[in-house]
Amino acid sequence: MKNYSIWQDFKRNDLKKLNKNIECDILIVGGGITGSSMYYHLHKKFKTILVEQNKIGDGVTSRSTGKLTFMQNDLIDKIRNQSNEKASLYIKSQIEAIDIVKKIVQEENIKCDFEKTESIIYTDKDEEIVKLKNMKEFLSKNKIKIDSCNLDLIKSKYAIKAFDTYMFNPSLFVYNYLKNKENVYEDTKIINIKRIKDYYFCYTKDYNIKTKYVILASHYPYFNIPYFFPIKSYIEKSYLMAGSKRNNPISLISYSSPFISIRTYKNKMVYLSNSNNSYNNINDTKNFDDLIKKASDIGLFPSYLWTNTDIMTSDNLPYIGMIKENMFIATGYNTWGLTNGILSGKIISDIINNIKNPYINLFNPKRVNLKKELNIVTNISKNAVAYINGLIKHNNNHICTHMYCPLIYNKDENTYDCPCHGSRFDINGEVIISPANKNLKVNDK
Ligand SMILES: Cc1cc2nc3c(=O)[nH]c(=O)nc-3n(C[C@H](O)[C@H](O)[C@H](O)COP(=O)(O)OP(=O)(O)OC[C@H]3O[C@@H](n4cnc5c(N)ncnc54)[C@H](O)[C@@H]3O)c2cc1C
Repeated sequence: MKNYSIWQDFKRNDLKKLNKNIECDILIVGGGITGSSMYYHLHKKFKTILVEQNKIGDGVTSRSTGKLTFMQNDLIDKIRNQSNEKASLYIKSQIEAIDIVKKIVQEENIKCDFEKTESIIYTDKDEEIVKLKNMKEFLSKNKIKIDSCNLDLIKSKYAIKAFDTYMFNPSLFVYNYLKNKENVYEDTKIINIKRIKDYYFCYTKDYNIKTKYVILASHYPYFNIPYFFPIKSYIEKSYLMAGSKRNNPISLISYSSPFISIRTYKNKMVYLSNSNNSYNNINDTKNFDDLIKKASDIGLFPSYLWTNTDIMTSDNLPYIGMIKENMFIATGYNTWGLTNGILSGKIISDIINNIKNPYINLFNPKRVNLKKELNIVTNISKNAVAYINGLIKHNNNHICTHMYCPLIYNKDENTYDCPCHGSRFDINGEVIISPANKNLKVNDK
């Protein structure tokens, strides 16, 4: 059994590390899907540097299900609760993102097992049939070809499918795109950012980068940015496995939480089950046992097991844009960051190039509304619950270096995980997933 993701299982060469002070127009912090799209959209016109604290394409991106689709469970309906216009614009943005991936794959000849597939949303609950029928109608109105369908693989009461959607291996996409690019550095962590006159100075342990623009493509923004991100968002944790099973190419997801998401990859199948949020479900072994039991119902047995977390926002829309002068963020993807991460590169490049972009307002990271204020309260209490759970159930002294939540030892993957904001540390205390920026001290481990 491999306790890492199926996408991480490929042979890679180490890329270069930053070894001098350097000056550029644009610094991208983070080498995941978001950083790769930023680089693609900006490096031809500006001197652009990308730094990655660990390995390129090995963060949250490498632990996803690798689907490129607008068939995003009940997310479209959640956005429709705000307005149909917003939901239509969001769908349009996701289609545009898929087209961008298509273009990058072709232009750069990237080997990443990119394949077209039907995407299905299904329900096994009577009360959701009408919701899915309404969603089908709404998608049709948005000029999307959509049908109802039957499923053999999994028990369902109603299902709808769309056609122009894709799947790929997300780590191969990011790694193969960035591996030969000139100004891309691995094992280079930004530990501090200071604004001095018209420039940002971004510091690694040994060197600094002077830049006009800085883009935090680090999954979770930090570095003292305004607008209270730790309390404006929460994290959702999922448990995933992959095993051998032949099936026609398929990509499907349940309509509502707790989600089941399945996709094929060559002669294998990836199966995801989510735990709603990470605050209440901190027993990883039990959650893995539940996942394995559910997958065995379709004759799937694990050869890879892993977990992943993503950042959820109170209005189900990402935060993409300028957060303070010449500093940008792209985050809060609500578990659909392969499309939204790609899109963020286009949006931020348009802002820097002074080009009108239809999604700037929709994803404005400074937006606030009443609903959000309420969520802030909810998220504070969720964090408090996580904090207390950590203390009581785990009675430990492993404290996250981000905002001091007690860490939980995930014995299945041999990591220390933060239930509050999703930071993860390897067994030696090194940060593998941000927002934590500092490793654990030796005596914290
Ligand atoms: C279970 C699960 C399944 C998902 N499946 C899908 C899917 O099928 N389709 C979809 O569209 N979305 C999916 N998502 C969402 C998607 O995977 C993420 O939203 C997306 O990968 C985030 O990409 P990113 O580049 O922002 O983050 P990352 O991939 O984490 O990249 C950020 C990088 O920044 C680096 N970094 C952080 N701090 C620093 C620093 N100080 N200095 C230098 N580097 C730093 C990190 O090491 C990391 O490599 C899924 C999410 C989950 C949780």
